[in-house]
Amino acid sequence: MPLKLASIQGRAHFVIGSSNDFRVVDVEHSSKGSLPSDVMACFSVWQSLRAHAASLAKTDGVACSIEQLDCPVPQPRQLFAVGLNYKKHAEEMGSPLPTTPLTFAKFQSSINTPCGDVRLVGSTCDYESELVIVIGAGGINIAQSDAWQHIAGIAAGQDISDRTLQYSGVPPQFSLGKSRTGFTPIGPWVADMDDNASRDDLRLTCSVNGEIRQDTKTSDMIFDISQIVSYLSDICQLFPGDAIFTGTTAGVGHGHKPPIYLQRGDIIETTLEGVGMIRNRCV
Ligand code: ZN
Repeated sequence: MPLKLASIQGRAHFVIGSSNDFRVVDVEHSSKGSLPSDVMACFSVWQSLRAHAASLAKTDGVACSIEQLDCPVPQPRQLFAVGLNYKKHAEEMGSPLPTTPLTFAKFQSSINTPCGDVRLVGSTCDYESELVIVIGAGGINIAQSDAWQHIAGIAAGQDISDRTLQYSGVPPQFSLGKSRTGFTPIGPWVADMDDNASRDDLRLTCSVNGEIRQDTKTSDMIFDISQIVSYLSDICQLFPGDAIFTGTTAGVGHGHKPPIYLQRGDIIETTLEGVGMIRNRCV
């Protein structure tokens, strides 16, 4: 089986199947203790995990649902995010195209589970569907051509944004405006992309209450996955389990005229081809 790593009650699990129908296998138990139980410890032994996942059968494990999953990368040492990384989104936000990845931090305390509720604050909270890179081997000064060898896999993510807080000053305040409690759902798991020839050209969608609001291919990124990893690693050392949000495309609520922000009761579904879907309810 291709490697997909999930977390259930803090324990690392292999995933067999897709987000609608899947089974899980406890990593430590299945490996008779040779692989870690702590999901964050898995990213530095990704090659061993991949080898073990390949030995699993379709019928192994027990049935599970995405509502039972925790965040697969709950404590990244660094949680980066790249803004305005799709041309159409930069246009709708009225911003010039960046010439280097426009990078900010999302803080770890904002991390949420794949189906966790998002507690809205104020009346201008917004959705941003994103591909999330999770670092495997880490490193510094990583060449673009080597970048995928330093990546464990990818996940779907939401960069929920409080637009009032984000634009409360000049220049805008990205990091705090996107780091309120629960504003960073990631999941449903980290999917290995080693065998996926389309890993730079995946469909990424966001729907609110079943209505598609965002729909893109990740090949529309201004700076692609390899460029982002290489760029960041020239400045910051990257560590196993670091996570990087890679930007959102057009269709956010703030870009509509008039804007349509999230309301209590809204259901946000974020789907990344080759990975799966996360579903978050606004409360
Ligand atoms: Zn974003």
